[in-house]
Amino acid sequence: MHTPIYLDGHSTNPLAPEALEAMSPWWHAQAGNPHSPHLAGMLASQAVENARSDVASLIGSDPQELVFTSGATEANNIAIRGTALAALEAGIERREIVVSTIEHKSVLSSASSLRTAGFRIIETPVDESGVIDISALERLVGDQTLLVSVMAVNNEVGSAQPLADVVRIARAAGALVHVDAAQAVGKLSLDCSDFDFASLSSHKMYGPMGIGGLFVSSAAPVRPLPVLFGGGQETGIRPGTVPTPLVVGFGAAAKVSRTRLGADAAHSRTLSALFLEELLSRQVQFFENVPEPQRVPGSLSLRFPGNDAMSIIERAGSQIAISEGSACTSGQITASHVLTAMGFTPQQASETVRLYFGRYNSAADAAEAAVVLSEIVGR
Ligand code: PMP
Repeated sequence: MHTPIYLDGHSTNPLAPEALEAMSPWWHAQAGNPHSPHLAGMLASQAVENARSDVASLIGSDPQELVFTSGATEANNIAIRGTALAALEAGIERREIVVSTIEHKSVLSSASSLRTAGFRIIETPVDESGVIDISALERLVGDQTLLVSVMAVNNEVGSAQPLADVVRIARAAGALVHVDAAQAVGKLSLDCSDFDFASLSSHKMYGPMGIGGLFVSSAAPVRPLPVLFGGGQETGIRPGTVPTPLVVGFGAAAKVSRTRLGADAAHSRTLSALFLEELLSRQVQFFENVPEPQRVPGSLSLRFPGNDAMSIIERAGSQIAISEGSACTSGQITASHVLTAMGFTPQQASETVRLYFGRYNSAADAAEAAVVLSEIVGR
């Protein structure tokens, strides 16, 4: 069977061959628990520290500021719940956490879980392109704000956020800043040293699944408390055996991303433009939900009026792998909270699909995807 063209990089990306090769010996020939005192353990520990340096270089941090986690979900939980609990313990009286309406559920749910501990969760709105409204943020952040958490790039629509403004507003109010950078690292040049905390996910940047990280600035006035308890690994913030092969793969993927950042972005931008041109040349009617300057290269959120996204995805499924803009919750299709926050009606949300043209896609993929979609959605 012909393998469908993979265009769902918002969700996960194929593993970089360099990462696969780097990980390989650490599963078997060089097995060793990086926390063990023998030579095998020390070699594993050295490999983990090399990978920590490679990931840290990509985000402009010191290696000691990076804590390995199982992914961005866990990093977001630690950044939000761990920081709130640390603030409570330190007697800090600020009780407000400001998040954007389009955050990933791991941010929104972590924040909501703190309501019972006396925190108020304030959601800051976005405009119709999925970019946070800076003047609204300015009004909502104040002397009660403990933490402002804004994602670098949205995972459903690809909109990049004005992080410099977010940092300026939070700092002026004396609030901490957390950035969920899962969708930005490896796609945009990002310097985390301006933030207190940042979450990373390896599989979004062509590394293995099941590994990620939390950047904790050495300058952060509050250090998150752990949300899990155990052996005190990762400077006490994230206990559990550090998975050497996954960490090594993450490090190798980061190293490749650092050298290819510009080339990857240019390639992704070229393919998405080619795809759009091809759709236009076939007189397909569609709307781009996030215009070019606001979106991360290669990412497209498109609405095909009069077409149901789920049906497009199913019909195209044997040829292209794409995702919808609505989330299926307990058997019911509900409009995505991201598209709803951008002002879409449930009908408009149900007509939206997302695509991502990444490093391992070709111009032929882009052209073929346009042909497949144009045949399904009509003119
Ligand atoms: N944040 C964002 C913005 C994401 O896109 C994702 C993954 N969809 C996550 C967090 C969760 O990442 P992980 O799969 O590494 O837990």
